[in-house]
Amino acid sequence: MKKHLLFLGPPGAGKGTQASLVCNSLSYLHLSTGELLRNEVKLKTNLGIKVEEVINSGKLVNDELVLEIVRKNLFTQHKGWILDGYPRNLSQADALNKVLNTIDQSLDMVINFIIAEDVLVERLLNRGRSDDNEDTIRTRLKIYKETTYPLISFYENQKILINIDGDRDLKIISEEISQKMA
Ligand code: AMP
Repeated sequence: MKKHLLFLGPPGAGKGTQASLVCNSLSYLHLSTGELLRNEVKLKTNLGIKVEEVINSGKLVNDELVLEIVRKNLFTQHKGWILDGYPRNLSQADALNKVLNTIDQSLDMVINFIIAEDVLVERLLNRGRSDDNEDTIRTRLKIYKETTYPLISFYENQKILINIDGDRDLKIISEEISQKMA
């Protein structure tokens, strides 16, 4: 049975890299809201023009705009998927549940990447994305702690959260995740 997963964790934890690896090997859909938004910016769509400044400042894009992207992509999906970078706050988590209810799907598992802050900063500084400078990194880590971190206990209470040590060799991590999904 194909599953429906969330990858949760601070910026730089490796969620995107791991989601790509696992989705490629299991033929799952990788849905990264950050990727989808960056693509809109690159294509200079109406949405892209609206969100560019927010993304480059390291702040969160408006809930409604992000939900629209998620909804559009999930609706057409009949295979398994991994959502990476969504939800980022409790109201997005509620919105996601509502969307999933309307399409008769539910979350099976939330993988929470655990990693020390100094390792994150080091990784982000080396990544070189346009929103990876010291100021925005600080903003993104602060927003993570204030608004995204509470999702851990939210999903822990639903008994679907699995913690993963994100400071190890890429392949070891992806194998562990695949095992948990089997
Ligand atoms: P990411 O690639 O997940 O690090 O996302 C890059 C940027 O896209 C974030 O800093 C936000 O500005 C925006 N973004 C991505 N996902 C979301 C989301 N679920 N809610 C709001 N903003 C988001």
